[in-house]
Amino acid sequence: MNAEIISIGTELLMGELVDTNSPFLAAELAKIGVEVRWVTKVGDDPELLREVIERAWERSDLTLTSGGLGPTSDDLTRESIAAAFGEKMTVQEDLLVHLKGLFAERGFPMPETNIKQATLIPSAESIPNDHGTAPGWWAEKDGRAIVAMPGPPREIQPMWASYISPKIKAQNPDVAIVTRNLKTFGISEGGLDEMLSPLFQSKNPYLGIYSKQDGIHLRAIAKAATDDEAWELIRPMETEIRRIIGDGVIWGVDDDTPENLVASRLRSKGLTLGIMESFTGGLLASNLAETKGSSRFLGGSAVVYRDDLLSRHGVDPGLIEEYGSTNARVAEEMARAARKLFDADVGMAVTGIVTEPTEASGPVGTLHMGFAMGDDVSSTSGHYATSRLRLRSRASTHALLGLVRFLSGLPPQSLSLRR
Ligand code: AMP
Ligand code: MG
Repeated sequence: MNAEIISIGTELLMGELVDTNSPFLAAELAKIGVEVRWVTKVGDDPELLREVIERAWERSDLTLTSGGLGPTSDDLTRESIAAAFGEKMTVQEDLLVHLKGLFAERGFPMPETNIKQATLIPSAESIPNDHGTAPGWWAEKDGRAIVAMPGPPREIQPMWASYISPKIKAQNPDVAIVTRNLKTFGISEGGLDEMLSPLFQSKNPYLGIYSKQDGIHLRAIAKAATDDEAWELIRPMETEIRRIIGDGVIWGVDDDTPENLVASRLRSKGLTLGIMESFTGGLLASNLAETKGSSRFLGGSAVVYRDDLLSRHGVDPGLIEEYGSTNARVAEEMARAARKLFDADVGMAVTGIVTEPTEASGPVGTLHMGFAMGDDVSSTSGHYATSRLRLRSRASTHALLGLVRFLSGLPPQSLSLRR
């Protein structure tokens, strides 16, 4: 089954409203094994809307539309579907009673313009809207369907989940789709692509490679009649990937994030953490603060930029004088100082160069991370050539993954990525 999505509304073409409905629907359709071939945005123009809907009707098994089901004269989705089907819209008594009831509950009479929300064509049935006045339409003829849904995300999403998705699934019973996302850090996208090139030829499971903020993701998708059969296709591919690139490169799977891994390690070991960060400007603390139970393990973070303040917070001024503040030894000392400052079991620190490099500091994008626990200290360095904003979040990812490795007794990965 192939599908097409149409997002309707002039505001979508003016840069005023970001279309979130089509990505939502596309992701949902992928989950139930329906291939999306086209996504279109179109304004509230009767001619153009009709053209887009007619073309979709001709070429797609299933067309999903969002928007244009409101009461006003620029909400024209129903009219356009009726025209494409060559059918007449008529008011449905039961829908009208329901609609009037909704207005009565709110304590005012239904405006005349809303009547069109109670119409249908002979080939369409109404889809309940549990969160608004505009019901959807499921219009079907000659084995193909156009499904019209309301624009507001808080209406379309529950309508999809309660009524549309189950109906599509019932018509497509033999497809189970399973995905496995392996998250890597430390090898470039090109490097992984080369190492895994034979696997990229495979159609089912299909392997995709995606560069993300937290490293390179390898995503395998398998289609089969059942979940179990799809997993049987994915498992050997995962084993093969792990054999080729090495387990150490894969830091997480599926929904894992660097901060959640750190949080669960610290919580399970009952350890607390203190941070001293310059380069990341508080991002490390901010990311960790988002995790479950963060108040139990996060003692605090000091955002310290000036050299004299580093020494006031416990970093040996002699070291800074000798190496400057952008240095791996200094990062280790900052981690130690953070541990003390926040009376924590573990210290972590990041220092680096975001602007104004000196000869001693190395180029912009150079960073150093330090980790300390008991008498153990460790550090690693990285260098990224990327924009300032991305530098900070890259550094945060790298430091958090470094901490996970440090807590497992593994050496942190150094990294130099030119992207
Ligand atoms: P409509 O049904 O076209 O009158 O849309 C009603 C409201 O739904 C709009 O004002 C937007 O707030 C929201 N909306 C419509 N289409 C979209 C879309 N594609 N993505 C996100 N929000 C939307
Ligand atoms: Mg609209």
